[in-house]
Amino acid sequence: MTATLPGSSTQVETSHSTLKVDSSLLRYGARIHRRPTRTVMVGNVPVGSNHPVAVQSMINEDTMDIPAAVAGIRRLADAGCEIVRVTTPSLSHARAMGHIRQQLRDAGCTVPLVADVHHNGVKIALAAAQHVDKVRINPGLFVFDKPDPDRQSFSPAEFSAAAARIRNALRPLVELLKEQNKALRIGVNHGSLAERMVFTHGDTPQGMAESAMEFIRICAEMDFHNVVVSMKASRTSVMLAAYRLVADAMDAEGFDYPLHLGVTEAGDGDYGRIKSTAGIATLLAEGLGDTVRVSLTEAPEREIPVGFSILQSLGLRKTMVEYVACPSCGRTLFNLEDVLKQVRAATAHLTGLDIAVMGCIVNGPGEMADADYGYVGKAAGTICLYRGREEIRVVPESEGVEALVALIKEDGRWVDP
Ligand code: SF4
Repeated sequence: MTATLPGSSTQVETSHSTLKVDSSLLRYGARIHRRPTRTVMVGNVPVGSNHPVAVQSMINEDTMDIPAAVAGIRRLADAGCEIVRVTTPSLSHARAMGHIRQQLRDAGCTVPLVADVHHNGVKIALAAAQHVDKVRINPGLFVFDKPDPDRQSFSPAEFSAAAARIRNALRPLVELLKEQNKALRIGVNHGSLAERMVFTHGDTPQGMAESAMEFIRICAEMDFHNVVVSMKASRTSVMLAAYRLVADAMDAEGFDYPLHLGVTEAGDGDYGRIKSTAGIATLLAEGLGDTVRVSLTEAPEREIPVGFSILQSLGLRKTMVEYVACPSCGRTLFNLEDVLKQVRAATAHLTGLDIAVMGCIVNGPGEMADADYGYVGKAAGTICLYRGREEIRVVPESEGVEALVALIKEDGRWVDP
């Protein structure tokens, strides 16, 4: 049988048929092709290009409470967080970063630090930049004019004057970051677009993208390229559109800056995780995104496993065992939920392995997705163990987990927890 897809420039042989595939459709392959970017170093962590997508978060301690801030940063670093952001709303907060950094380094914690700067933050950003690896500014607030509720229009002259003030404010920060080879995040938030952007483009993803591009162009004019861009919104659809727009706009103007992905104010619990995943994973699957932050209304260290799970589920990083398990059905020959828990408890530390737990041999072996090892129901009270696609041994169910561990040990792929 020959199946034909639209267009026909490439023939793909399969065991069932010959497919004629338009080469443009080859992007539907299983691998994610990341948007090419430059590498931006954030301290010792490379962001962008083919480097692993970095997982980051932000402490919620008061920056002025130095011991608490240091403890919060260390908790995040211990949880696997690769870049930590700290808020610096005043000059005192920016200066506190010097003590925080010193105490972290004294304790052997080298996680890169980012200072978060908001309203009229020029002086704060300059002070914070001395002590951190990256400064995050919000284009809507960096040069902040209180919105005028009676304003009916924004004249071109007013628009240009505001743009000139931004240029003047950004220049010393860019010069300092360039001199110290540090990074800048241009972090647009949907909820805090500048008034003139809202007048010109509306409260829209287009307004967000233009807001970022204005700052990006100034950095590029100054030959400063250690730039990371984010376009966060609490509505996933807005966030998706804004990231896609800014990626297209950057590509069109030849800017290859990495993207920091996140959905703001995603909330907590299952829904917060699902909402964050919907936004972050959708973009990652399209090849957009070089560092991620899952924002949860929970202890920040709880964000880290979610970030790593998103990356692992897309095949972008492998930081834990990949478990393949069937949902179970009428054919299931053992308590799948219990057995999966037991297998996980015994093997969760074996990063890099794929282990399948399947309820029966009717569909199990075929659906194990090329796992390294399989634990499959054979008959009532009996299971079989697979290495790849090969059945290796049959054992009583009561000895199944032990036998799986023994098989992994025999193969030299075991490490003690
Ligand atoms: S692998 Fe077997 S037990 Fe599991 S869902 Fe499929 S048919 Fe059911």
